[in-house]
Amino acid sequence: MGNPFEYAPAPESRAIVDIAPAYGLFIDGKFTDAADGGRLKTVNPATEEVLAEVAVGGEADVDRAVKAARKAFKSWSALPGAERAKYLFRIARLIQEHGRELAVLESIDNGKPIRESRDVDIPLVAAHFFHYAGWADKLAYAGLWQSRTKEHSGPAPKPIGVAGQVIPWNFPLLMLAWKVAPALACGNTVVLKPAETTPLTALRFAEICVEAGLPDGVLNIVTGAGETGRALIAHPDVDKVAFTGSTAVGKEIARAIAGTRKRVTLELGGKAANIVYDDAAIDSAVDGIVEGIFFNGGQVCCAGSRLLVQESVADELLASLTRRIKTLRVGDPLDKNTDVGAINSAAQLSRIRELVEAGEAEGAERWSPAGELPGKGFWFPPTVFTGVTQAHRIARDEIFGPVLTVQTFRTPAEAVEKANNTAYGLSAGVWTEKGAKALWTAQRLRAGVVWTNTFNKFDPASPFGGFKESGFGREGGRHGLEAYLDV
Ligand code: NAD
Ligand code: MG
Repeated sequence: MGNPFEYAPAPESRAIVDIAPAYGLFIDGKFTDAADGGRLKTVNPATEEVLAEVAVGGEADVDRAVKAARKAFKSWSALPGAERAKYLFRIARLIQEHGRELAVLESIDNGKPIRESRDVDIPLVAAHFFHYAGWADKLAYAGLWQSRTKEHSGPAPKPIGVAGQVIPWNFPLLMLAWKVAPALACGNTVVLKPAETTPLTALRFAEICVEAGLPDGVLNIVTGAGETGRALIAHPDVDKVAFTGSTAVGKEIARAIAGTRKRVTLELGGKAANIVYDDAAIDSAVDGIVEGIFFNGGQVCCAGSRLLVQESVADELLASLTRRIKTLRVGDPLDKNTDVGAINSAAQLSRIRELVEAGEAEGAERWSPAGELPGKGFWFPPTVFTGVTQAHRIARDEIFGPVLTVQTFRTPAEAVEKANNTAYGLSAGVWTEKGAKALWTAQRLRAGVVWTNTFNKFDPASPFGGFKESGFGREGGRHGLEAYLDV
């Protein structure tokens, strides 16, 4: 396998996929500059190469986008569901047709391994549009509201109006799909703000919507950073706010819209426990732990960042886990053999470093496989902390990087107690050969998603969302419709 961190520099990104030097805002079906001409640069985090400049939307631009969405709402919401579905099916098929290009663009702008963007992200993006296209003409049968009479389910619920959506950088196009597909299927119109470090696939998606013939103003993309997001959420004519990102910003948003008519769903951070019982198949558990924390370099809100292993198998499991981690290839995101790509930004890298240093300072033991990281770009090696206690910051704070903490437990009750001892509650994993034990544990975990003998598996038909500080509201499946309907 060679040096796991062996690194071949990526060729010029523009040669691989078509990236324009500059992009405007996508408002009312057209690309336009920001009113004040503001721009930001998005870089390839694996090389620090500037990929493109994108417009920074200000208040005036957000206002134009919301007005366009408001105007389009009238006819879009009046379309029969079956007609809206046709557009969504067309978008889903175009995503499949452009799948390779979108996967490469995503990996270049975000830093994630091409194997993930090609085999997980982009297929799931298409799957979400297919799934919600299927719902568009069946909203009356979703069972989301009280029936007027016992015999009849009543009229179909109505869309909410203009949705303002703000998404993060870890799954740029997939988070767009999670938000745009149900919103449009239910008859809402959208103004979406992508993350400032990963705007390119959202802008390519805008072009795909043009190709699909989506009416002007139904979808608007306003790029920019936190200020642009703040302006969108504060806009008085936004009816529904949907946010995925950090808990800190989520709290700010909740405060900003308190007392307004706006409806809100928040998908925030996580600190998931991955529980391995002594009867688990160790090899599969090791695969699941690796998948849980190194998928997308651990920059995943539902990452299995806290390994809880039963004491009697802890040594055996850790020996096997470290052997496996030594085989992971860290490097060029566009190399199909890469397991762990780049960290998305310098800011995210410094957050990871700060927490890891706190872990060492507080007395936990840090381990990473030997190997050299590329000189340019933002990189962090797969890292495991043992000797971790609940008091350590690395056990409590979301690191959002390829860093696993290991704690042990003796009894199932102790495993559940430790797993729930967190401010978050987005996801969890359980590894055991015994079905009854898996169910016993899952019923006691305060987590929106519990995976058994697997981890990080997603399906558009399955709702996703959190307890406690992980946020509220569900995305995906039938439950995901509720966020976009006046039920
Ligand atoms: P963030 O919350 O700052 O950014 C997420 C999105 O919100 C971006 O589009 C950003 O431009 C926008 N934004 C920022 N400030 C805003 C404001 N005041 N009003 C409206 N929109 C605003 O997240 P980040 O700085 O990119 O990452 C920081 C931490 O967030 C990570 O370390 C991780 O813990 C967490 N995170 C969680 C998820 C998730 O999927 N739950 C995704 C990304 C990041
Ligand atoms: Mg980028």
